[in-house]
Amino acid sequence: MHELSMTAGILKAVISNAEENDATEVTEVIVEIGKLALLNPEQVKFMLDVLSEDTIAKDAKFVMEEIPIEIKCKECGYIGEADNDDLDHYAPMVECPKCENKLIEITNGKDCIVKNIIIEKPDD
Ligand SMILES: [Zn+2]
Repeated sequence: MHELSMTAGILKAVISNAEENDATEVTEVIVEIGKLALLNPEQVKFMLDVLSEDTIAKDAKFVMEEIPIEIKCKECGYIGEADNDDLDHYAPMVECPKCENKLIEITNGKDCIVKNIIIEKPDD
């Protein structure tokens, strides 16, 4: 399952980062999910809550931030957000909102990254 492997990867990155920084606890994790990353933010959040049990991040608050799709149209030169309100989550077909061309370059919205991790340290 796509979400599960991505989520396990996110959590692994969070935990190793926290351990490198001598954290006693992870309090908050902000995850950016591009709308084209083909991940359901609700499911990712749920899995993070489940998978983080028995880890340093067990009490962390996981915050999902959706990143809009940004494109560059090869036909008319439009640069900006794609109109993706009706986008099928699992089979997205992105097109230029100006000329409806599908010959576009996607410049943002494909990635799923850990944006910020807030930790507790022994001395805090
Ligand atoms: Zn266009």
